[in-house]
Amino acid sequence: MVKKDNHSVHEETHRVHNETIIRIMGKILDQIKKGKVLVSDGAWGTFLQQKGLQPGECPEEWNVTHPDDVLDIAKSYIEAGADMVETNSFGGTRFKFEKYGLADKVYKLNKAAAEISRKAADDKFVLGSVGPTGKILMMGDVTEEELYEAFKEQVKGLEAGGADAIMIETMTDLDEARLAIKAAKENTNCEVFCTMTFEKTVDGEFRSMMGVSPTEMVNTIIDAGAELIGANCGNGIADMIGIVEEIRKANPDIPVLIHANAGMPIYDDGKTVFPETPDEMADLIPKIIAAGANIVGGCCGTTPGHICKVREVVDKK
Ligand SMILES: [Zn+2]
Repeated sequence: MVKKDNHSVHEETHRVHNETIIRIMGKILDQIKKGKVLVSDGAWGTFLQQKGLQPGECPEEWNVTHPDDVLDIAKSYIEAGADMVETNSFGGTRFKFEKYGLADKVYKLNKAAAEISRKAADDKFVLGSVGPTGKILMMGDVTEEELYEAFKEQVKGLEAGGADAIMIETMTDLDEARLAIKAAKENTNCEVFCTMTFEKTVDGEFRSMMGVSPTEMVNTIIDAGAELIGANCGNGIADMIGIVEEIRKANPDIPVLIHANAGMPIYDDGKTVFPETPDEMADLIPKIIAAGANIVGGCCGTTPGHICKVREVVDKK
């Protein structure tokens, strides 16, 4: 009898604990369910370069060597009106860190990345950025298990630092995307989002570098557990409209996020320049929302100026 009571107390505690977790989870998705269009942040990589990040330096090491510069970037997006800010952890797996002799710092640097963005975000959301490892499964560079373990290590650090969601992004290979999603779902209580990068082919179709279409992406990554999907990088906002339309045709309900570059990069006098101005980007925001995007933000070349304009347009709707 006593034993049974103890057991039911344990069950009850467990149930309450689970409910708490469920309440904490779903924060960003809840906002979307209420019909809100949310604004995300802009570029990190190009911003870090502006702050003095040198070629050959590990961007994520800046989370401990230049935390104030990283905080500054996160803050500038929140001040521009973003509802969420990413973390400086795009290349945060051991496969990227190995090149800098930092493979044993994965947890620490990812945790620091999330802590910095958390500090800037205050009551806004933090998206823990997870990019590709640079290893190609098809080429036999790496096994599925090794990829899974690498993502697991990274996402645990991001969650410990305070990420609300894991933002798996710039993926081109469906298997790598699937393993990253699985690692995030199985090892964190964060919401799990995934975007891929598409380019327009000469036939006018959208394909990732590994040949995946937005339609092919939709079912695979939703099955793997992604709760929000979309596209980032690759091209300007104009092409993103077609990508959102294709995603919506394949699935009318899944929340969609777009992080568009400030146009296609132009190489000018040895420098990479992103040509799209904040106004040019803002002009197309109503169209991308009409196509079905729920969260809009920027990728390479976008600045707090771009995000500020996006905020204005979203608020006018
Ligand atoms: Zn980009």
